[in-house]
Amino acid sequence: MKHSTRIGGSSVLRRLHCPGSMREEDRVGSDDSYSPEAEAGHRDHDDAEKLLLDPDRESNNDMAKEAVAQFHRMVEYVDDVEFLTEQRVDLSHIVPQAWGHLDLAWAGWRDGKRVGGVVDWKFGHGIEVQARGNYQLGFYALGALRSQDPDLQAMFSDVGAMELAIIQPTRHDDPDIWVTGLEWFDMFEHFLVAGNARLDDPDASLKMGPWCRFCKAKLTCGMQTELADEILTREPKKMTSVELAWALKNIPQLEQRIVELKRLGMQEAEQGVALPGMKVVEKKARRSWTDEDAVRELARKKKIAFEHRKMRSPNQLEMEARKKLGRDKAKPVIQQLRALQDKQSSGHVLVPDSDKRPAVQIDLQKRAAATNLEPMDVGCIAALAARKDENDDE
Ligand code: SF4
Repeated sequence: MKHSTRIGGSSVLRRLHCPGSMREEDRVGSDDSYSPEAEAGHRDHDDAEKLLLDPDRESNNDMAKEAVAQFHRMVEYVDDVEFLTEQRVDLSHIVPQAWGHLDLAWAGWRDGKRVGGVVDWKFGHGIEVQARGNYQLGFYALGALRSQDPDLQAMFSDVGAMELAIIQPTRHDDPDIWVTGLEWFDMFEHFLVAGNARLDDPDASLKMGPWCRFCKAKLTCGMQTELADEILTREPKKMTSVELAWALKNIPQLEQRIVELKRLGMQEAEQGVALPGMKVVEKKARRSWTDEDAVRELARKKKIAFEHRKMRSPNQLEMEARKKLGRDKAKPVIQQLRALQDKQSSGHVLVPDSDKRPAVQIDLQKRAAATNLEPMDVGCIAALAARKDENDDE
């Protein structure tokens, strides 16, 4: 689905935080190729849309079926629901060339009040996406609210608040919904207009952050190159704890660079570009049966067990229970199943302190013994790192 190269739903976060990103992406030029993951995502979007428009349609795409089921549950208590899929939203009358395509817009009546919202399907296995304050959803919802399209105007002219939802079946059993009043969109529109004014400045600044993830200039942007130089040319053991924390926090940027390097290398090699010392080979082949009946017969004759039943994982079994029994009837069964489960962490992992999980209490005495430091010194290092983080956040 096409989006504006200036400001669209998928680029609005990047444009508002990193105004120089438009210039940098323009330098790289357009690349219409899609990664296999993006292709799979398009297929899931497509299947979900078809299922929504035709509920009796047969589909073997479980992900799309779950996404549609989550939407139906979300609007279960909304009367006279109407919806539009893959709808173009155009804000060009407010900000030049600002447009995009939303996945799903809906409106209806709840308790006598007009309600409505937008939904973004997320089918990837990557990061978890939140609805609260989400600029992409905000862009689509603003597009629906300010639309000059008669269908959208009819749907949204009387709503008093917007429900912004992320449906991400790989991460959530239910949509992640954020309800916000119309004033939020007045403020967002103001940001959009102000941010747009900075985009054409040849010296527009660059700023790194999570919005770099889908930036086409990831490999060429000066900020990214400097960051990679700075982290990769330093000897980790000579870093202070504060420098180490800073490097660790920036690892996702480096990882994206490596993924991009691999993708580009593969793309070049498959187009016949010689990469010295590298070659393209077949991935490890997985064997599969061409005729399962013949295999069963042969195995039976030779008295070899040909089927092996394995207990489903807690996740798989709970999903199956919801599918077979329906959401409400599955609840008590799932509770019973949970009483039969044990959950043990396989170890520690280092994450940013914004992560929802509580921090593990590190035993400073033990750690001091292991590092030959006084417990007091270990505590001081931790406090110093925390103070550096606070300063960075200001
Ligand atoms: S990679 Fe990040 S910092 Fe560089 S231009 Fe893109 S969004 Fe801006």
